[in-house]
Amino acid sequence: MITNLVKANIKNLQPYNPKEVPCSIKLDANENNNVSHLLNQKISKAILELKINQYPDSNSTEIRKLLSEKLSVSKDQVVVGCGSDQLIFMVLNAFINVGDKILTPSPTFSMYKISNEVVGGETVEVDLDDGFRFNYNKFMMAIKKENPKVIFLSNPNNPTGGIIPREEIIKIVELSNAVVVVDEAYYEFYQNSVVDLVNYYPNLIVLRTLSKAYGLAGARVGYSIASREATAILNKVKPPYNVSSLDQTAAKVCLENNQMIESIITEIVNERIVISNELNKIKDLKVYESYGNFLLIYTEKARDLYQYLISEEILIRYFGDKGDLAGCLRVSIGTKEENARLLYIIKKYFFCKEEQLPLKMAE
Ligand code: PMP
Repeated sequence: MITNLVKANIKNLQPYNPKEVPCSIKLDANENNNVSHLLNQKISKAILELKINQYPDSNSTEIRKLLSEKLSVSKDQVVVGCGSDQLIFMVLNAFINVGDKILTPSPTFSMYKISNEVVGGETVEVDLDDGFRFNYNKFMMAIKKENPKVIFLSNPNNPTGGIIPREEIIKIVELSNAVVVVDEAYYEFYQNSVVDLVNYYPNLIVLRTLSKAYGLAGARVGYSIASREATAILNKVKPPYNVSSLDQTAAKVCLENNQMIESIITEIVNERIVISNELNKIKDLKVYESYGNFLLIYTEKARDLYQYLISEEILIRYFGDKGDLAGCLRVSIGTKEENARLLYIIKKYFFCKEEQLPLKMAE
């Protein structure tokens, strides 16, 4: 009976099920393993002061104040969400009617399409070129043909790590009639942003998160930066009390201590370059250029390598053997020790016998 009542667009929807394989080294979700526990003491102390019997501040006022100062925008231009996932939903809820179109490059972050299916929108995807490069002309042609209401651009793009140049983003914002969402979840590893443009373009919405560079994925805090006009629209669809007081407290401590993550970000970027160079030396692997805290790798042995890494207690992301990410694996950049172990195990896999490993790789 209940299945007859479900909305048509939900009937065949596959739930987003992150793979939960317990492993001692977790490199599957682009988290920041370098900051785990670093702020826990400060967060715990701040939580002791909380009046947990009361609802949280529905507008996350303190977080918005800290963010607006950091980004040189007004508090009225920031919305805080339960992860940037919730902001993606808010955008779709505010702008997409059943049958309306959104446009995204492909492959990209899967939640744009999944969330759009929930609201009943249609998702039009524009394939990235060889090497997962963004093709501006192809994308512009799709904009003209499809006239989408919302465009999602993940910059850097998850899971490919590629980027879209600022000038191309500006032209897309200027030349389309759409709301353009630039998802800067990995901004801190790339350092190029379009946040400075939100006062010029009312149709531009930038998304950021504390889940990646800030190492706060467990607290679920993301935010949008946009014109006052766009922000007022998002606030209409924001659920009340959407960020718990525990999460707001963690976010506040994290933002107040943001100098702690600066050297960690540099270290992650340096490690990314080292790992990428090392992996590229293995002839059976292709590593794509990445500007995030992760690397996308192609190999014909993807499934086997993935299983082998699990047997060695290392979890990475495997995208299966079908579709445009067939044979692709994504690894997050972890701590120095985790990265060294990952490299060691991957080399062990490809060179098969441990005695064939170069001496300097010995554990
Ligand atoms: N955008 C992108 C591009 C992502 O990769 C992710 C997380 N994987 C998110 C948004 C969602 O992040 P969160 O909800 O943790 O803020």
